Parts: sequence; structure tokens; C-alpha cells
Amino acid sequence: MENMKTKSEIVILGGGESGTGAALLARKKGIKVFLSDSNKINIKHKSVLTHFDIEFEEGGHSPERILLAREVIKSPGIPDDIPLIKTIRKKGIPVISEIEFAARFTSAKTICITGSNGKTTTALLIHHILKNAGLHVGLAGNIGESFAWQVATKAHDVYVLEISSFQLDGMFGFKADIAILLNITPDHLDRYNNDFGQYAASKLRILQNQTQNEALIWCFDDPVLNKVMSNRKIAAKQYPFSIRRSGFKKGAYLKGKEIKIISNKTELTMTLEQLALQGKHNIYNSMAAGIATKLMDIRNESIKQSLSDFHNVPHRLEYVSSVHGITFINDSKATNVNASWYALEDMEKPVVWIAGGIDKGNDYESLVPLVKEKVKAIVCLGKDNTHLHEVFGGSVDLMVDTVSAAGAVEAAYNLARKGEIVLLSPACASFDLFENYEDRGNQFKEAVKKL
Ligand code: ADP
Repeated sequence: MENMKTKSEIVILGGGESGTGAALLARKKGIKVFLSDSNKINIKHKSVLTHFDIEFEEGGHSPERILLAREVIKSPGIPDDIPLIKTIRKKGIPVISEIEFAARFTSAKTICITGSNGKTTTALLIHHILKNAGLHVGLAGNIGESFAWQVATKAHDVYVLEISSFQLDGMFGFKADIAILLNITPDHLDRYNNDFGQYAASKLRILQNQTQNEALIWCFDDPVLNKVMSNRKIAAKQYPFSIRRSGFKKGAYLKGKEIKIISNKTELTMTLEQLALQGKHNIYNSMAAGIATKLMDIRNESIKQSLSDFHNVPHRLEYVSSVHGITFINDSKATNVNASWYALEDMEKPVVWIAGGIDKGNDYESLVPLVKEKVKAIVCLGKDNTHLHEVFGGSVDLMVDTVSAAGAVEAAYNLARKGEIVLLSPACASFDLFENYEDRGNQFKEAVKKL
């Protein structure tokens, strides 16, 4: 009898933001649920589970119970190749993500952003525009409260969802009303068997289930996306954006120093100077946000206002301060090569570049020309900087090793001259020396303040 009962339950793996949200949503919908975490669950999430009377375990999994689940909701942080997940799959139990689960319980419109870089910035921009226009909009995915949590506790009419490839891997029936594909460049390859094709395929899952009633906004200048779009039959209405090519009937492009955004009905024009977010990559992000919000029927004036009064998010090419004429920029969120490429590309004065950390199998070759042109010295900030030395040793006059944010700032400050820039844009993850990229960025800013 006990088996009969447990067979009807959903098991959630991971008691973080998404897992706890999914558990609460299941509970509210009267679905029997059990949450299991191999680590300790933090106090905040544990108190939610206890308060809502949700059964859970921590510090280890009970496979006998988990393997009786009718469906497993897996946190995006849990890799696919651990034995437990392999066994669950072998048994034929569906493994889904929290986004897939939550979507079953809401009819709100979804604007879904994916890509290797720019997701958070674009999601925040769209949220800002829709909120200013008076819509009842939720922001979820990799940001803030989970989607499931919000579906369980709030009544939003539209959701802006930042969706990572790990979440997409667990999405099957989900359909995005508006999908945005910003770019596909190598990242997280350690979790995709070092296979770029696998990673790209995962990002492209954002298109699944879309029909001609849905929209796809994508970057025309991204070589991978461009190839896919010309080779594949795409069901959704397409809205490409580009800064190299102009004249699309629908989408966005540059004309001189103006951007044009064209939806089905009307055209919006604004100058590059009016954009709150500067830099080439942010032109893309602003274009994508502009198209998406025009498709939501927001008035041109309102979109323009919001695109020009948006405040940038910390740790993304964030200006910190100027000390004795040396400008310090915090781009700690640049955890992969492409993000650092855009940062370096943007620099218009000689740079002392602080880079390094956990190298996710990085291919730095694309950075070499930029480093030769713009970087006068590299300050390595990581436990193991061998790879950086190998690639860039011949491209700059000076490379030094440091193991703390304070050490890196001091070294960079000594190397830079008036009128130059110190840029923290690591191209690597932060976990060797820091809690996360925010911690790395905050320690960097603290150290700059102490100069
Ligand atoms: P994500 O959420 O995808 O990680 P973020 O908006 O947090 O993206 O930005 C991550 C890093 O990528 C930052 O260093 C930022 O300056 C850079 N970046 C932002 N938008 C783009 C883009 N469209 N293309 C390339 N790099 C970008």
C-alpha cells in the first residue's frame, strides 16, 4: 500500500530557490511531493518547507523513495551525469525543470530569454519597460524568486523569464510566447561533454513547440544563430536584429546612429546616444528588448523612455571610480570568453586587464588580437593561471599573478598610468577564490575604494 501511495508523488531534487518554489507550487495544487537535497538546505528555504508542511530530506538522497517518483523536478545546478540521475532516467522516470513544471499552472504570457551572454541584462530591460508601462509583470528564471514560487503566490499577467541551457534541458512541453535568442558562444562546455553542438542544441530548445502564433527574436550577427535560422524550418514569426545589416521588414537594425525597431504595425526610432546602456553588446540587448515590448503593444514613447532611463546592473561593465585619473571597471560577471571579448572590444584607452579564475575549458584565441591591440599588462587573479600565461605570454609585456582582489587591484594600480583603464573581466568562473561572481566584484570594488 505504501508503494501505491509514494508512486503518485513528485520528487524534487535540490532545495534551493527553484526546488523550494516548485515544492510550494505542487503543495498548493494538491500534488504529493517530496524534496531531497544532497547538501544542507539553507534556513530560508527550510522554513518555507516546514511552514507549508512539505516533506523533505537533506544531506543525502534516499534512492528507494526517489526511484518510485512519477516525475522528478531537477534543479539546474545538478549535473546530468551523476549516478542518481542516470538511474532515474534508466527507470524511465521523466526529469523536468522547475520552469516546465510551473508553466503548467499559469496562462500568463511568457517572454523567454536565452543565449550565452546578456540574458540578465535583457530580462531586466524588458521587465523595466513592461513595468513602467503599467503591466503586471513577473521577472523569474535565473533571477530572484523562482517562476514556480511566483506562479504559486502571485497573479502576474506576463512573465519575463531568463532561461539557462540547464533549465532548457528539462523543458519538453513548454511553449514560449516570445522567445529571444541573443547569441550562442562556448560556455559551460564541461557540462556538455566538451561538445559545442550539444550546448547549442540545448539553447535551441527554446524554439520547441512554437507555432506561427508565437514570435522568435534573434541576433542576425551571431554566426551560429544565422546558420541555424537559414538551415532550419522555423515555425514562429521571426524578428532578427543586427548592427551590421539593415532593412529588415520586421526586427531591428542600425541606420547611421539610429536604431530602428519594427514590429508588425509600427516603427520606433531612437538614437544610440539615448540608450541608457552603452557598448555594442548593449545595442543588441536594447534591440531585443525593444522588439519584445513592441510585440506586447507597448507605446513607442514608453519604450523609448524606459530604454533611456534604465539603470545598469552591478558587475556588468560597471564603472566603479576614477583614482588619480585611472578608471576602474567591474565586469566580474564576465565568466566566459565571449563576455570578456565584448568588454575588451569596448575599451577605448590602454587597459590593465585583470583576468582568471576557474577556466571552464576556455579557448582564449579570439581574445589575442584585442589583447595585442589594447592590453598593456595582465594581472592574473586565480589559483592556477597557467593557461593564461601560455596563451597571452607572448602578447603583452607584463603578466603578474595575484590570489586576492586586493592584491590584484594593488598590482593593477601600480601598472596603470593616468588616462588608462583597469578592467576586471575575468573570462572565468570565480569559485577558486570567491563565493561567486558578486563576491568577486564586491571585493574588487572595496579594494578600489581603499586605494
Ligand atoms: P547572462 O545573464 O547571460 O550571464 P549578463 O547580462 O549577466 O548575461 O551579462 C554577462 C556578461 O556578458 C557581462 O560581462 C556583460 O557585459 C556581457 N554581455 C552582456 N550582453 C551581452 C551580449 N549581448 N553579448 C555578449 N556579451 C554580453
